Amino acid sequence: MKIRDILKEDRITLSMEVFPPKKATAMEKVNESVREIARLKPDFMSVTYGAGGGTSKYTVQIAKDIKEAHGVNAVAHLTCVSSTRETVEKQLHFMKDAGIENVLALRGDIPDETEFPLPNQFHYAAELVKKIKEIAPEMCIGGACYPEGHPEAASKAEDIKHIKEKVDAGCEFLTTQMFFDNSIFFNYLYRMREAGISVPIIAGIMPITKKVQIERSIQLSGCCVPARFKAIVDWFGDEPAKMKQAGIAYATDQIIDLLANGVKHIHIYTMNDPEVAAGIQKNLSEILR
Ligand code: FAD
Repeated sequence: MKIRDILKEDRITLSMEVFPPKKATAMEKVNESVREIARLKPDFMSVTYGAGGGTSKYTVQIAKDIKEAHGVNAVAHLTCVSSTRETVEKQLHFMKDAGIENVLALRGDIPDETEFPLPNQFHYAAELVKKIKEIAPEMCIGGACYPEGHPEAASKAEDIKHIKEKVDAGCEFLTTQMFFDNSIFFNYLYRMREAGISVPIIAGIMPITKKVQIERSIQLSGCCVPARFKAIVDWFGDEPAKMKQAGIAYATDQIIDLLANGVKHIHIYTMNDPEVAAGIQKNLSEILR
């Protein structure tokens, strides 16, 4: 099923992100996590694309399994920053042949110490969106957006202008970068609508259940960390079971507040942890019914 059709239904949706292994040896472990998360029957699952494109075949394989073996709708991510136009086009044909119906079109992070863009590269996700429209017009295309502004953008207004270009190029839904303060999201939503962006915007929620994620995810993305959240990490960060429970509770609380304010679509960054995905889903069982 196309994500655009799922998002059109007048109901709350809960979707979940997984990532592929870096090496073939870790494939079975990832498959096991994917299986368990798929058992929760989220509205759809998305599969990330390794930054350098090295795990590209796993992304497509996992997305295909999610759909065909587990009966859950799937989205395969695709980035273009580390590849030539030809490689990206080849990957698109591969995705099309594998029966991928939904793609999240991304530029990707520019690798350190590389020259970018080279003449034979896509510069921005909007160009990738146009290419997908050309090669696989039947695919449903999503994109990324950033409630706190993309780190490279000169301003939030400038960034929103570029998101609009991405939508005008054919992007049919947007998933946000993680955020920990809902007021940032509500303000962003208002500005996006004011800029004429009317496609569904899915709120991306990252449950922080390990202290190490603070350093990795939050610092990399440059997200604002509220004092209430910092206190949780300070207090429980060194005790894994407590941190996990507190992280699930914080994410649940954030989601309930979003839903109570009219947000319909939630995407959980599961970090391949079925326990975290299941914990949040269980906490929302009556609300999602
Ligand atoms: P773009 O939309 O191209 O924007 C990148 C920057 O360029 C922004 O600052 C934008 O304002 C600016 N810009 C855009 N158009 C123009 C223009 N015409 N002129 C000047 N500036 C312009 N990374 C991965 O490697 N693999 C993944 O699977 C992955 N999944 C993600 C999923 C989500 C939901 C999110 C939020 C991010 C994901 N990322 C992933 C990270 C993403 O690739 C990076 O954040 C990347 O730096 C930007 O990608 P983008 O598609 O948003 O880029």
